[in-house]
Amino acid sequence: MSATDSPSMPSPDRYGVVGHPIAHSKSPFIHAQFAAATGQNMIYERYDVKPEEFAQQLREFFERGGCGLNVTLPHKEAAARFADRLTTRARLAGAVNTLRRCSDGIIEGDNTDGAGLLADLQRLETPLAGASVLILGAGGATRGILAPLLAQRPASVFIANRSAERAQQLAHDFAAEAGDGCMLRAGSFEQIPAGPTDLVLHATSLGLEGKVPPVPATVFGPATLAYDLGYGITDTPFTRWAREQGSGRVAQGLGMLIEQAAEAFWIWRGVRPDTTSVRHELQA
Ligand code: NDP
Repeated sequence: MSATDSPSMPSPDRYGVVGHPIAHSKSPFIHAQFAAATGQNMIYERYDVKPEEFAQQLREFFERGGCGLNVTLPHKEAAARFADRLTTRARLAGAVNTLRRCSDGIIEGDNTDGAGLLADLQRLETPLAGASVLILGAGGATRGILAPLLAQRPASVFIANRSAERAQQLAHDFAAEAGDGCMLRAGSFEQIPAGPTDLVLHATSLGLEGKVPPVPATVFGPATLAYDLGYGITDTPFTRWAREQGSGRVAQGLGMLIEQAAEAFWIWRGVRPDTTSVRHELQA
């Protein structure tokens, strides 16, 4: 008899990750490690759901007692529409990566990407207050991290994107979060201000094609951290290239992935899992 069939053991709470495709997702491994380490009676599965079936499948999951879901590409905006209620950070992001069924049955949508990035930058001892930040890319990930990042009061943020108007729209939408203390600007890659930047965040999907965006080498200096939101076991095309251009430090987004999962775990279970051992296991 399996543990879940035992009469003395209540059925495990059900969680999962929904995306399309989803076979590559590391989330089931990460959450299984968190659950084992913190003694939570839960299961976490992956669900491959096509966009046209998204709302129906999610309704069924929650109607059958499912407790929470992580949401990944291409469903993050659809998840924001699906949720009955959004947290402030999810509303600002316009995208949801964590859904939770509350005790009153309401489905709440949250976005933990920004918190995940900040936690990883803290691990990397990279303060944001007063820093100059360059963000490459203006897609869903950038929209998700902007408000938490601006709340740390950097001195300047420049958002560069292939479609400059998409970056400019973000700068417009987040002007209130930047306030008077932060110079928030946007433009094309050609308009990136010359000179070393404290933090360069790579948030385009170009890494999937093995490419890097056309960024002037002058943005990288000995004190720069070049951080790729994309991830792999070792270097990504961006971290390799940034190091070659003279970036003093480089990091890739595996740490952010684990930290955003830990934030979701905390939202669901009220327990903060240790992330160090999971990071070591994934890197091994
Ligand atoms: P989106 O699809 O929303 O945005 C893609 C971005 O890449 C846009 O800025 C787009 O520019 C740009 N882009 C795509 N193709 C090209 C190209 N040929 N040349 C130049 N720019 C291009 O993706 P996301 O924002 O959701 O994700 C971005 C990255 O962040 C991905 O690698 C993803 O894996 C990673 N990520 C990592 C997380 C983590 O936990 N580590 C969490 C979330 C995301 P344009 O607007 O001009 O089309």
